[in-house]
Amino acid sequence: MSPLSPARSVAPRAQTAPVRPVPTRWAAPGTITPVGTGTGAGATSRPAGRAGQSHSAGGSGGTGGSGHHGPQRDAEQAGGTSSAILAAVASGVATDRATLARRLGLAPSTVTVKVGELIAAGVLAEAGAASATGGRPARVLRLTPGGGCILAAELGRHHARIALLDMSGALVRSADLALDVAAGPEPVLEELVTAWTELRGAIPADAVRAVGVALPGPVSSRSGAVDSPAAMPGWHRFPVGAHLSQRLGLPAVVENDANAMALGECTALATAPPAAEADGTAGAGAPATGGPANLLFVKAGSSVGCGLVLDGRLYRGATALAGDLAHVVVGATGDAPCNCGNRGCLDTVVGGSYILADLRARGIEAHQPLDIARLVGDGDAQATTRVRAAGRLLGQTLSAVVNFVNPDAVVLGGLLSTLEPFVAAVRSQLYENCHPLATRDLRIEQSAAGADAGVLGVGQLALRQAIVAL
Ligand SMILES: [Zn+2]
Repeated sequence: MSPLSPARSVAPRAQTAPVRPVPTRWAAPGTITPVGTGTGAGATSRPAGRAGQSHSAGGSGGTGGSGHHGPQRDAEQAGGTSSAILAAVASGVATDRATLARRLGLAPSTVTVKVGELIAAGVLAEAGAASATGGRPARVLRLTPGGGCILAAELGRHHARIALLDMSGALVRSADLALDVAAGPEPVLEELVTAWTELRGAIPADAVRAVGVALPGPVSSRSGAVDSPAAMPGWHRFPVGAHLSQRLGLPAVVENDANAMALGECTALATAPPAAEADGTAGAGAPATGGPANLLFVKAGSSVGCGLVLDGRLYRGATALAGDLAHVVVGATGDAPCNCGNRGCLDTVVGGSYILADLRARGIEAHQPLDIARLVGDGDAQATTRVRAAGRLLGQTLSAVVNFVNPDAVVLGGLLSTLEPFVAAVRSQLYENCHPLATRDLRIEQSAAGADAGVLGVGQLALRQAIVAL
């Protein structure tokens, strides 16, 4: 098994520690979908522990072509209200029922039902009475110590980022794992399971409520399998969600990596919550928090991908292909052959693997994406020129998308987005080519969530599945 290497130092803390403030996701007006009180498993008491063996496997959001909602999509919506409540409680934005209703724009009766379900399931606990501002004492809610956790992973071609999240969706710790996705689904997923076991450490297996995996390829909206993934030989139509669900006896969610990153970035960009008051409640009347409602996340790594959040929701399109920027045919590519079988795709200029091949063809030693970063960092003229050309073409192509979608933010992630010449080229092309109204208030930023964007996003989806399965 590949050894785990600690990733970014994400303040490892015991599962029982008080939850640190995190941005409240999905809390902006319009981002919450209040659901009927009949969703979920009701208030049946179940101690914190492993979910049953009968969970259906996750699909990619189950957008199901032709507008049908699949089971995962339904669960996402059903779990959305409860996960928003958990996030608000964990961040200190709202820790009593009345404040939750006000801040999340929910009916008090809905909050009462959902909070009751979460308490019965052992995820939330009443931390005793505290005096509200001048009114009668409000019962303060807290995440239950040991109330459960979520395991997430984002797979690349040669590595995986794995993470442990708490039941508010906040990152507890993450790590990097070296693996070769071309080894095929079963050995790779088994490696993942072993790495997750190591990551959770002393946390018992039955505290894990769900798992989520982000994959570098199109994820079928119906089956939760990757569909024709160019970079994942042997994975075509392998039922990743069903396999993991059966292997672990847990709900399992599968999502495209760029989609997961878009969701994760929304979490990271959410406005920091107002400081909690001494009694643990947030300031009344403070502005609602939330990430940008319309966000375009571009992952520029070995390949280029895009995730779209529109009106606070992940947009997957009719067949879950939305955001597939890599294989948009762009005349300026010079009709180069692409690994999808077509010619002239954007990826042949912007994809890291093609940049590496170009540099090697010019006699430069460059074999992995980090080599590009090293060369640019060292001031190599050819590498810098090539990366700048990639940024320019990406910016030109993106400008059509930005005009069309009119997002609040364009977020650049992936290895190339850590390189200044690349980011500067994208930015200048967007400003040059977009309608002034589209860029007037547009935020063009490097990813705030960084390497954790994918695990945060797919962890959020897994959390919603877990809540429904409570
Ligand atoms: Zn292509």
